Amino acid sequence: MHYYSTNHTSPLATLREAVVKGLASDKGLYMPEEIKQLPNDFFDNIEHFSFQEIAFEVAKAFFGEDIESDDLKKIVYDTLSFDCPVVKVCDNIWSLELFHGPTLAFKDVGARFMARMLGHFNRKEGKELVNVLVATSGDTGSAVANGFLGVEGIHVYVLYPKGKVSKIQESQFTTLGQNITAIEVDGVFDDCQALVKSAFMDKELNEHIRLTSANSINVARFLPQAFYYFNAYARMKEQGLADNLVVCVPSGNFGNITAGLFGHRMGLPIKRFIAANNANDIFYNFLKTGVYKPKPSFQTIANAMDVGDPSNFARVYDLYKGNHDTITSIISGATYSDNQIRETMKSCFTENGYILDPHGACGYRALKEQLLPGETGVFLETAHPAKFKDTVESAINSTVTIPDRLAEFMKGTKRSIPMTKNFANFKEFLMNE
Ligand SMILES: *Cc1c(COP(=O)(O)O)cnc(C)c1O
Repeated sequence: MHYYSTNHTSPLATLREAVVKGLASDKGLYMPEEIKQLPNDFFDNIEHFSFQEIAFEVAKAFFGEDIESDDLKKIVYDTLSFDCPVVKVCDNIWSLELFHGPTLAFKDVGARFMARMLGHFNRKEGKELVNVLVATSGDTGSAVANGFLGVEGIHVYVLYPKGKVSKIQESQFTTLGQNITAIEVDGVFDDCQALVKSAFMDKELNEHIRLTSANSINVARFLPQAFYYFNAYARMKEQGLADNLVVCVPSGNFGNITAGLFGHRMGLPIKRFIAANNANDIFYNFLKTGVYKPKPSFQTIANAMDVGDPSNFARVYDLYKGNHDTITSIISGATYSDNQIRETMKSCFTENGYILDPHGACGYRALKEQLLPGETGVFLETAHPAKFKDTVESAINSTVTIPDRLAEFMKGTKRSIPMTKNFANFKEFLMNE
């Protein structure tokens, strides 16, 4: 299968090229040339299959031409070493819990899949070590570091701003060792990002070592997120609740919801989608006005969705050929202030005893407000509330227990390499690694 750029001026790429490059040279996002419809009997019987079996069928539709069946199966099964269950919250609303992976957020699925796919290409082609550079303000670094941990042929460098990430987040990528190196930059997130960008552009460095990024726009991180939409449908169907299903996705860069829309295109019978935003309401405004107007992001308590120019908008637009009427017939929007998010965490806890994280709270609230009679709602609970312990505890006035696997990170020894924000220093470090 080939991949084209949403800007339509780069040449087509193979899967391997698209995964290694991440972004097309015309700065567009890669799209698969074909989104295969899955057969009716797959959907008729889907409730009889396990999560891994379902995911393998979906993976074959995208990657089956490029990766042999046995290898692909192993990648999928290794990736999904944890469940993504649907849990009832109240009468007609269910939570698709995506926080049962190693770093307690949905990004684990894509990061683990991409790591295993890159590892696969490396083994096949016997190439030298691939170095993944990733700049993080907290969550991406932990998902990528843990996703790639122990994967042969790959070394990961996580660049993070000194003193600007929480202790829990920091422990998730500084205590791992093995093929993960944490680099503590004396600067802010933008300085980390700038170091990574300069590294990709430096000719001498790129002749010396092989560099790649693990950005969330990468097709190998983004497409596997479709897996859990199919599984959610299967698990709801098992209970006779899959007719008139509405899926609500707390959205920032819109990668997660776009994977769901790809599933819909493949025939997954979801009636409609809701994109729930925090106060960064660019997509919400696009749905209302038909005009896409990016603006600077600002900070909210659902900070993983603080995005002012969602990169995957280009994919949504391309998928529906820019037709605003089609887009609004499938997706509706919602936007919530920090106060509304706090209120929602509180009322959901009081009424249902269910603890939401600030991102999931946007999803739950949008379903509460927008579900029609006869519809069943599933929102994506994108992270475990313990990742936002202080915010959640003060909102619900109760304690949030930290799961063992999160507490385990905090017991480890921090190891990081101090770095200035000067590219010459970073380059010298990489040249001598
Ligand atoms: C990344 C993230 C989001 C936003 O997902 P997108 O794919 O960027 O829309 C939502 N919630 C959490 C907890 C996240 O980490």
